[in-house]
Amino acid sequence: MNENKENYVKKLSFIIDDILANNIEKKCEICGKKERKNKCRICGREVCNDCYNKEKGMCIVCSETLCEICKRRNAVERCQICGKLVCPDCMVRIDKSRVVCRDCYEKLGLDGVRRIIEDKAISENLKMKKFFQEFCEK
Ligand SMILES: [Zn+2]
Ligand SMILES: [Zn+2]
Ligand SMILES: [Zn+2]
Ligand SMILES: [Zn+2]
Repeated sequence: MNENKENYVKKLSFIIDDILANNIEKKCEICGKKERKNKCRICGREVCNDCYNKEKGMCIVCSETLCEICKRRNAVERCQICGKLVCPDCMVRIDKSRVVCRDCYEKLGLDGVRRIIEDKAISENLKMKKFFQEFCEK
């Protein structure tokens, strides 16, 4: 009798798990609260109306991380000069860790871009130095 009861409880908990999983599956993949109504054309997530940008035809996550130059692909990096989010098609890699956008690159040329990035790095280093000096003096 006791064993039967245990089995019954086990079965029931499986059923409950199933129901919960199904419910979660039908909810918006971003907020997890509302019913999915739209499919994002960029990432393919199914999302509710709140999490969907109708004009752009994509979810809010993609619309926020969209390349600011072509506005079609997902951005993966930020331009070191103007700060725009850019996709692989719209960026130019300057070195291992730094990229600039197509616009800045066309405007400034490789030398100009390099100079600005280096100036920035130097001034940031100086800022850090100053910060540490002040920090140590305290
Ligand atoms: Zn949502
Ligand atoms: Zn998306
Ligand atoms: Zn782009
Ligand atoms: Zn730029």
